[in-house]
Amino acid sequence: MQMSYAEWVCPECKTKNRESCNSWMYGSPIRQCKACRSEYLDRRFREVAIDGFDPRSNNAKIYVKGVLFLLAIAVICGVLTYFQYAKGYYSVKVVAAGALSALGAIACLVLAMRIKFGFQNKANDKYMEESKARLRDPQYVKKLEGYGYRIDESLKK
Ligand SMILES: [Zn+2]
Repeated sequence: MQMSYAEWVCPECKTKNRESCNSWMYGSPIRQCKACRSEYLDRRFREVAIDGFDPRSNNAKIYVKGVLFLLAIAVICGVLTYFQYAKGYYSVKVVAAGALSALGAIACLVLAMRIKFGFQNKANDKYMEESKARLRDPQYVKKLEGYGYRIDESLKK
């Protein structure tokens, strides 16, 4: 799983907190300021047992479209370079754009394959387990409800 970073400014002490998270921001929406220890709700984080998974994380079609789109750009750049090269010159920018597009296409393809073959789903199972484990803590549930979350009774066991 690739890592991303979430940044937020503490409403109490205005410290800028920066922390790593998974790229879908699955995790507890209750964050704690590293400087003053006050707690803060960050709705960008998804408590997956309540909020569900990010629909994009299960949708391989978006990535397949990305592959086709980027491949098309790579091919256009390739053809352009081929004709330029035949005339005795070529543009470094076009070659670079083509190479980057080809790399992007490979990245999208890898993501699409991961989803198709269930690797992403396995990772999702892990996030769901972690989320459910957090919700077994009645104090944590109370806090979330205090922030306006509606939590299904079946999750509290
Ligand atoms: Zn703070």
